[in-house]
Amino acid sequence: MPELPEVETAVRLLRPQLEGRRIASAEVFWPRTIGGQAPAAFAQAVVGARVATLRRRAKYIVADLERGGRGAGALLVHLRMTGRLYVEPARAPRDKFVKLELALEKGKVLRFLDVRKFGRFLFVEDAASELAALGPEPLEPQFKAQWLQVALGARKRRIKPLLLDQEFLAGMGNIYTDECLHQAGIHPLARSDRIDAARVKRLHEAIRSVLRAAIQREGSSFDVFYRTPEGQPGSYQDQFKVYGRTGKPCRVCGEPIARVVVGQRGTHFCRRCQKR
Ligand SMILES: [Zn+2]
Repeated sequence: MPELPEVETAVRLLRPQLEGRRIASAEVFWPRTIGGQAPAAFAQAVVGARVATLRRRAKYIVADLERGGRGAGALLVHLRMTGRLYVEPARAPRDKFVKLELALEKGKVLRFLDVRKFGRFLFVEDAASELAALGPEPLEPQFKAQWLQVALGARKRRIKPLLLDQEFLAGMGNIYTDECLHQAGIHPLARSDRIDAARVKRLHEAIRSVLRAAIQREGSSFDVFYRTPEGQPGSYQDQFKVYGRTGKPCRVCGEPIARVVVGQRGTHFCRRCQKR
């Protein structure tokens, strides 16, 4: 499932192809993708609008729209498990799993492909209010070790589910949470308010360095689903220390990597590097 690095990669690659482009027409092949809005109403909201900016917020791709230089709502795209967004020539054969297509100028189309159909491609009037509940962005300068220390201390929750909570911190998912906790030497079930200051500092550093390294490698592809908008797999999976490595030796200490289920999510960690 795409997390911050995969969504950031999509935004960076799509930005030059979408910013400044006008939406000439819209076709919806699976109405649930647009969140239950009537396809005709969706088309009316977006056709004729121009993409002013393309950006990422948490795991959302946000396209701010404008008409005549004025804000005209936004598209919020969530890839969920298998969603993929890409621009190609309109004449390119449309994959049968394409759920929605926006025609751009100059014979190009933006296509949203989604095999498992959990992805969403929504038009909203006010993106800011839709996204208001999300926690801070871990790669922004405002995300500081001291903030993390105070925020963890104010909660009494298990660290892994807390880091997955998008209202606590934006963009983290199952893979990068496991990798960051290993790098910081924190057990995934540790209570947030009982993690010592030195480990919180390591966690803060791990979050920033792991996410940056994963963006540099265009995310992680370990199944057939995640591909960049250019159709390429990411390569950060080659760097995994724990995720998907159950039973294999820890790259730090050699102990076999353990797997437990935490909040319904498969969780990978090293019992020796990440003591309770
Ligand atoms: Zn280890």
